[in-house]
Amino acid sequence: MSANIINGKAIAEATLDEIKSLIEKRLAQGQRAPTLAVILLGTDAASAIYVRNKRLACEKTGIRSLAYDLPASTSEADLLALIQQLNDDDEVDGILVQSPLPAHIEEKKIIETISASKDVDGFHPYNIGRLAVRQPTLRSCTPYGVIKLLQSTGVNILGLDAVVVGVSNHVGRPMALELLLAGCTVTSCHRHTKDLRAAVERADLVVAAVGKAGLIKGEWIKPGAIVIDIGINRLQDGSLCGDIEFATASQRAAWITPVPGGVGPMTVATLMQNTLKALELREAGKLAS
Ligand code: NAP
Repeated sequence: MSANIINGKAIAEATLDEIKSLIEKRLAQGQRAPTLAVILLGTDAASAIYVRNKRLACEKTGIRSLAYDLPASTSEADLLALIQQLNDDDEVDGILVQSPLPAHIEEKKIIETISASKDVDGFHPYNIGRLAVRQPTLRSCTPYGVIKLLQSTGVNILGLDAVVVGVSNHVGRPMALELLLAGCTVTSCHRHTKDLRAAVERADLVVAAVGKAGLIKGEWIKPGAIVIDIGINRLQDGSLCGDIEFATASQRAAWITPVPGGVGPMTVATLMQNTLKALELREAGKLAS
């Protein structure tokens, strides 16, 4: 058996085209384009690539992008003041602070200072809470992007046994909540899980979000399962891979995402969707401040 590849790059491109049309429609009706403020601290190479991709997606869709490239030495107080200024600016719809942040800045404080109505990353406790109580508003980009990739397969995931490996606040936890909302029976695995192999072996749907190359062996995958690899790991030769052994897993799975070209592009497309949504919801008076 050879799995169907879920082509995240193509699905993301189609999503960006849809967003572009919606924004063109707004402009034709005399409404303004959404605005996304992207804050980058320091010169970390991976962060710079992620930010560049986000800014490129803004260009493609017609979202106005405001760039704040600041030195790594920027104080927490100055960063908080900038966020407050952007919160107060009615022309700004989304605020994104690229992680990881320098050690002297407390990420939790930054996330909680961004207005929930402009939290287009979907990291704010208010937005995670909305998802937990089945009233999602601005949804975490990577997990919601995964849901859209799953929808693209046409497979009915209702009632599937889903295993999410990784429980971080930004990825693993909201991923488990998204799958619960979608009607899966969800197991979350983490560092203290006693038998990861057994959990993966019984899963109809496996989502990996750890950041350890080859953590999940291809031979663990149940024949016919859906396999989503969120992990991004750089190997010594410079190439990228996920957390799941792709070559062997793709011989057993029915559907699988590649790394790169799977979840990554969809995360960026979902960020663009969230930015447009944040503007629409604020216009409609439907968001908390
Ligand atoms: P993170 O904050 O480091 O979280 C990693 C999670 O993996 C933690 O919950 C940790 O559990 C768990 N873990 C560690 N070792 C484990 C093990 N041996 N068995 C089971 N679970 C284990 O990372 P993250 O931000 O969630 O990102 C995870 C991966 O996704 C990274 O490779 C990142 O680059 C990638 N990522 C990709 C995208 C995309 O768009 N494709 C977006 C975001 C992140 P504990 O909490 O118990 O320590």
